[in-house]
Amino acid sequence: MTTIPEVYFGSNISGLPSMFANMSTKLDKIIELLDLSTIKKKDKVAVKMHLGFNEGYQTVPVFFVRRVVEAIKKQGGVPFVTDNPTAVYNAAYRGYTQETCGCPIIPIAGVKDGYVTKKEVDFAGIESLDAAGALLDADAIVNLSHSKGHGSCGYGGAFKNIALGGYSGPTRWQTIHGIVERDSYFDAEKMTKEHLEKLKKACPRNAPSWDNKKKKASLNFYDCDQCHGGEQLCVKADDGKTGWSVNPENFDSFQELMAVAAKIILDSFDAAKIFHLNFLIDITPFCDCYGMAMPAVIDDIGIVGSKDIVAADVASLDLIAEQGLNESIIKKIPEKYMRVNPDLSAKLHPWQLIHGPIKDPYKVAKYGEARGMGSSKYKLIEVLSAEETAAMEPPKHTFESGPSFF
Ligand code: SF4
Repeated sequence: MTTIPEVYFGSNISGLPSMFANMSTKLDKIIELLDLSTIKKKDKVAVKMHLGFNEGYQTVPVFFVRRVVEAIKKQGGVPFVTDNPTAVYNAAYRGYTQETCGCPIIPIAGVKDGYVTKKEVDFAGIESLDAAGALLDADAIVNLSHSKGHGSCGYGGAFKNIALGGYSGPTRWQTIHGIVERDSYFDAEKMTKEHLEKLKKACPRNAPSWDNKKKKASLNFYDCDQCHGGEQLCVKADDGKTGWSVNPENFDSFQELMAVAAKIILDSFDAAKIFHLNFLIDITPFCDCYGMAMPAVIDDIGIVGSKDIVAADVASLDLIAEQGLNESIIKKIPEKYMRVNPDLSAKLHPWQLIHGPIKDPYKVAKYGEARGMGSSKYKLIEVLSAEETAAMEPPKHTFESGPSFF
């Protein structure tokens, strides 16, 4: 009999405005339920994060990172926060330092992004992926991710944090992101720069593009919202000349390769020493690598924790679906920034309403489940719910009426 994985959830809504019921207490409770006791004394523990870029501060707040780090230390583990070299080098700009996190911050694939282990893979002609060496050096992993939207696949959470973040830059950008070009979607022999310009002009997202160096056309899959299920204006402008099409296969190959890549990383660890935490706060429409402030298009939800990566992401997506888009924010966003489905009541996930119907945010988890990585059926256990905490007797709250540190 297969066991249904547990997903622990701490909502940002509390029953009382009291510290005993707030998010930090809920995070502590989730960590307790995840049971970090499998982390042994001196185990090196990678806390894999996205530390953001440039001015993108809407990542997991250092306040929570420090709490996770302290919990690892309590087990005798030796934690280190890790991400790609650029994000690590300028992490202090966004408040992440050894002092604030409580542990070193180490570039995931070395200072020159070249400390990697080639991992064999058999997928669509790809033979190997360069897995990040510092991550693989660890004995345990806390997959600490920020749940947000993503242009290529609709959603970025636990899978994406490992699948892309667990590899060197070239593997991440050229091999994994580049897989969208696997299935041809136009006849290159018949394509010209002038014709491509026609397609680009027709597209409200400017997604078709021409590479002057390579003299080659391509579709920017990240920006394409598939005209939200309506008439695809680029296809109309092509008028059959090059057979230009916008196919689900191209988008899906990225999701499938993400599942493959995440499995390679997680298979390198003892399953008992893998922990996933998704932070559903500051839920922006695009990835943290944008490096800029973005509107939070979905209101804060809380924290999700599980030992099962599929369950963690599926539960996070279900909670996002239940919450729905913040329509008053959505209405203020100009089309040039982001085009949303004209029918917000359409039976689509909020990430599909933003990124288009083909970018099914559950797909990566489905591909993962098919590869035995976890279960999309899960048991949601809410910790310190609003109902529960509303019925509790809070400790007396004292306000800071004067300096209390001396
Ligand atoms: S389907 Fe629509 S959004 Fe996508 S490239 Fe074509 S015109 Fe642009």
